[in-house]
Amino acid sequence: MIVKPRVRGFICTTTHPVGCAANVAEQIAYVKARPALTAPPKNVLVIGCSGGYGLASRISAAFGGGAATLGVSYEKQPTEKKTGSAGWYNNRAFEEQAKRDDLYARTLDGDAFSDEMKQRVVDALRADLGPIDLVVYSLASPVRTDPDTGEMYRSAIKPIGETFHVKTLNVDKGEVHEVDLEPASDEEIAATVKVMGGEDWERWMNTLADAGVLAPGCRTVSYNYIGSELTWPIYWHATLGRAKEDLDRAAANIQTRLASSGGDARVVRLKAVVTQASAAIPVVPLYASLLFQVMKEMGNHEDPMTHVQRMFETQLAADGDLDLDDVGRIRMDDVELSDAVQAEVKRRWPLVSTQNLPELGDLAGFRADFLRIFGFGVAGVDYDAEVDPESIAPLS
Ligand code: NAD
Repeated sequence: MIVKPRVRGFICTTTHPVGCAANVAEQIAYVKARPALTAPPKNVLVIGCSGGYGLASRISAAFGGGAATLGVSYEKQPTEKKTGSAGWYNNRAFEEQAKRDDLYARTLDGDAFSDEMKQRVVDALRADLGPIDLVVYSLASPVRTDPDTGEMYRSAIKPIGETFHVKTLNVDKGEVHEVDLEPASDEEIAATVKVMGGEDWERWMNTLADAGVLAPGCRTVSYNYIGSELTWPIYWHATLGRAKEDLDRAAANIQTRLASSGGDARVVRLKAVVTQASAAIPVVPLYASLLFQVMKEMGNHEDPMTHVQRMFETQLAADGDLDLDDVGRIRMDDVELSDAVQAEVKRRWPLVSTQNLPELGDLAGFRADFLRIFGFGVAGVDYDAEVDPESIAPLS
């Protein structure tokens, strides 16, 4: 079949197998061209490994530091007539390259929130990988079934307290318009914390510690976004922020658990980038378009891969002190939140309109990053050529 992008709102319903593989190959090539990590982890578990920040973390650890990696993600297999999810192709491309480089790489497909998946990981570690020294928790999901009760929770992306009247961007049409975002109910806030808060991260770490599959000194990180005051009413001071605050509670508990063996648990504050998860948050595409343009003009823009590589090079796989904020989170959002970048984004925010967006913001860059997630617009790929959606061997 010949595959073209079919975008519906903030999702693309088709994926390009060759484009996804080329995208992963480019990220791997970037990491290989960097200096080797000085103090890399040896055995790494990445929960949410198939895209965005999780995939970038797996690539840095493996190809920047030679780590053996076990990945967990929830992806859709292709059929003869329908392409699989982008993450499915990304995982295959990662495994293929790891095999060529003689690096252990195994990916388990299924629901990371379930106890069954946690047990599968324990079994895989016992069977062939051995104790883990870094656990990266990089899940982004709209739903979670509580394994204790069987109840399914759905997260909400809403303000808290008051209706938020704000500018936003229709990425498809390139139109800037204003919307009213209605506040969440208490139930929606609690459900969002249940899905995106720290409970599942803690459950993972307790399961792995109880099973004795964590190496002495094992560290774990979970990813957070705090961002600019411009997005606080829909992110940091909203339902998602409430869930992310819960990561700090979980980090403290995990730290206590790991301390006796010299381990550590940290929340990491990352920058805004385009991923399947972030494209779905109102206001973020407009903020990100302005941010990317400003950072590109200042020469300090980063995509998920370059950002995560800097995190490994300066924080996770480096000798030296961590750059921590006042509650002990690792700060990687220093450039996004620098006075110079924020002052310029805030200057443009009230001025931006449909007409001047191409000049003040980087709508083209945002759209290109979005399509790349699904394997489209990658240099060197022939998008008019026939592809077999199942051409890469399915998971073992
Ligand atoms: P993403 O959508 O690119 O990746 C999410 C990953 O989670 C995928 O690998 C997916 O397969 C996996 N996943 C989702 N539900 C699952 C389930 N039930 N079982 C197993 N795997 C599942 O998202 P992302 O933007 O890379 O987000 C990762 C983390 O980074 C999140 O915690 C997010 O809040 C954080 N973060 C993102 C940004 C941003 O701008 N995108 C900024 C800062 C922090």
